[in-house]
Amino acid sequence: MTDIKSMTIEELTEYMDSLGEKPFRAKQLYEWMHVHLARDYDEMTNLSKALRSKLSEESELVTLKPVDIQISKEDGTRKYLFVLPDGNMVESVLMRYEHGISVCISSQVGCKMGCRFCASTIDGFLRNLTPSEMLDQIYAISRDVNERVSNVVVMGTGEPLDNYDNLLRFIEIITGKGGLNISQRNITVSTCGLVPKIYELAKEKLAITLALSLHASTQAKREEIMPVARTYNIEEVVAAMKDYCKVTGRRVTYEYTLIAGVNDTDEDARLLSNLIGSSMCHVNLIPVNPIEERNYDSTSSEGVSRFKKKLEKNAINVTIRREMGRDIDGACGQLRRRHMKEGLS
Ligand code: SAH
Repeated sequence: MTDIKSMTIEELTEYMDSLGEKPFRAKQLYEWMHVHLARDYDEMTNLSKALRSKLSEESELVTLKPVDIQISKEDGTRKYLFVLPDGNMVESVLMRYEHGISVCISSQVGCKMGCRFCASTIDGFLRNLTPSEMLDQIYAISRDVNERVSNVVVMGTGEPLDNYDNLLRFIEIITGKGGLNISQRNITVSTCGLVPKIYELAKEKLAITLALSLHASTQAKREEIMPVARTYNIEEVVAAMKDYCKVTGRRVTYEYTLIAGVNDTDEDARLLSNLIGSSMCHVNLIPVNPIEERNYDSTSSEGVSRFKKKLEKNAINVTIRREMGRDIDGACGQLRRRHMKEGLS
């Protein structure tokens, strides 16, 4: 089956041509998929019945089905567990901010990066998500709440730069004029730091925000919690982020998950400031969300404020990540793991 939801408008036009259809039919079909977010060929009423039935025979309209939706009573955060066409499951999260709705999507089924504090990686890596599977996390959520999504963060399960080509195609379609037309500035991609891919992404000259999961102030500490640091050392990865800034003119984000007694001392704040410097960047402090499989504790809120002040003294822009959906399975990968375990027992 052809995955038509992963096609750009040019590719879809060629595909429709191969079926003997005119270019305007491709435009109509593209609009049904990427503007009206149609979940079924039968919704596409301005296409002939004959064309719809031909399409349903040879091309798959990838749609994700929610198997669980958890809704936070505190802040309206909604966590979705979706089943993919092949039966695998992924998580996505909707968060409400003053400036609109933000959706956090997954880029892979499972993850091979092995970060010690993260639940998404515990069961290993299964496969990359296709562009249509990334898009439909947003489309399914937008349809569910009947609201426009204004921001997208690729910060769910998986390493987006390990699924590079599909990620770029996803960005092209979600930001394209013929689709939801979300501004590139409202897209954030978060990476654990695959250095060659960061340089490659800079050359694409996109206006997206790049975030690095840094989480440590020294190479030794980073290696302890993030195995990827053994392949790319901390200096190399920060140099790649600085290059991204220079080439794109975009301010980058460093994410720093604070873990009690691991990376949250005054000395860590000092070393971190020296490492990143104060220009064209921003640090997002995240109190670690403890997972039952590891005994990491979160830094106290006083400790987080203290760390923030130390960075600010060095002229670094800092925010503390607002904890959303604390009353639901908030940390990456927890909802999927819980379902997998229940499924087995
Ligand atoms: N692979 C990408 C994107 C997925 S992880 C990356 O590494 O950036 C998204 C973010 O959530 C990362 O910053 C990650 O380090 C963080 N994260 C994962 N588990 C967490 C936990 N238990 N508590 C706090 N942050 C966590």
